[in-house]
Amino acid sequence: MTARILDGTKIRDEIFAELKDEIAGLATRGVRPGLAAVLVGENPASQLYVKSKIAACSQLGLASWQHTPQATVTTEWMLQLVRDLNNDDNVDGILIQLPLPPQVDSKRVLEAVSPAKDVDGFHPVNMGMLVSNRPGLVACTPAGCMEILRRNGIAIEGANAVVLGRSDIVGKPMALLLLHANATVTVCHSKSRDLPETIRRADILVAAIGRAGFVQADWIKPGAAVIDVGTNKVTEAAEAKRLLRNFPGRIEKFVAKGNVLVGDVHPDALSTAGALTPVPGGVGPMTITMLMSNTVKAAKLRRGAGLGSEGKPQPAATAR
Ligand code: NAP
Repeated sequence: MTARILDGTKIRDEIFAELKDEIAGLATRGVRPGLAAVLVGENPASQLYVKSKIAACSQLGLASWQHTPQATVTTEWMLQLVRDLNNDDNVDGILIQLPLPPQVDSKRVLEAVSPAKDVDGFHPVNMGMLVSNRPGLVACTPAGCMEILRRNGIAIEGANAVVLGRSDIVGKPMALLLLHANATVTVCHSKSRDLPETIRRADILVAAIGRAGFVQADWIKPGAAVIDVGTNKVTEAAEAKRLLRNFPGRIEKFVAKGNVLVGDVHPDALSTAGALTPVPGGVGPMTITMLMSNTVKAAKLRRGAGLGSEGKPQPAATAR
């Protein structure tokens, strides 16, 4: 069996097309949603992420601003910037690119972001909304995983879902989203026992641990849907050859480039899973996509553009 590929770039394109229509509709009402990105210092990976996020904004016609304080910035300075952005009526979404330098109290800065502009969905208020299944802004990566499942017609209700990893930004919100979609959810972590046995019971597996090729192909229930969140850069030739032994084309690319991206699920799972997100090209493109979607959603909620035709707030608008 060869798994069906769950192509994240295709879903990104679908959602971008829907967002473009929505943004055009908002423009006729004088609303142009906007995202403010804060990039501290000169971390090349962070610079690349922010560049892609700003590029996505301009592709969709969203307003965007970049703030680039130096790496020596203080917590107080960051808190003032966040207050200014909270008070700026043109800004619908605030993105604080992580990691922040060690002298900055990241938690305080993230918690200073207005929950109504928290397009990363990291604020405890938005986490609380998710716990109680009320409308709010949901963390982008798990929200993107749900889009992949839903838009590929994968049955969630009643399914046994295993979430591997329990971070605040991926594992925990993922487990809650699956639970609210009526899956029976098991969350595993580094202290869990009998991982292979637990994973073998999963109709849906979401792997988010940051360990290249950790989940072995024979741990996957035949036909299961596998969402591989892990993005691990493999640079050791021996490891690349071990992981990609059945993918000579990818080994050739590794040799040419000196590195390869591998998920948390062993690439050989292609022959046991029923459906599988590739790495790269699966979950990765969905994270920026959902950031754009959250920015539009935040604009609608905050500016009252979610009002129904009779002028009564729709459920989403009552959440804040
Ligand atoms: P994280 O904060 O480091 O959390 C990792 C989780 O995995 C923890 O809950 C940890 O358990 C668990 N874990 C680690 N080793 C394990 C093991 N051997 N067995 C079982 N559980 C184990 O990571 P994260 O931020 O959630 O990210 C996870 C992965 O997703 C990373 O590869 C990251 O690069 C990737 N990611 C990708 C995207 C994307 O857009 N594609 C977005 C976000 C993250 P404990 O809690 O017990 O320590």
